[in-house]
Amino acid sequence: MNPTPMPHLTSEEIELWAQGILGAARAMHLADCSLCRAEAEQERKVILELAQLRRFAPSPDFADRVMAKVRIPTRSGEFTP
Ligand SMILES: [Zn+2]
Repeated sequence: MNPTPMPHLTSEEIELWAQGILGAARAMHLADCSLCRAEAEQERKVILELAQLRRFAPSPDFADRVMAKVRIPTRSGEFTP
């Protein structure tokens, strides 16, 4: 007799796994189920790509820091006879 198969991981559980915080009991299902494993790998890839995007995205104060370095030429002090 086969043991009762574990239910497939929900998309939420797959997300947790990709973040490395899924409980070991559920993560073990991935060892047996190529279906869930494929989905989990896909999810992890997406998360890695998102993490990279976030790293390359400018930080919220990026514009402020750029503007602080930009010298806007002013006309004051020009040709005061
Ligand atoms: Zn499964």
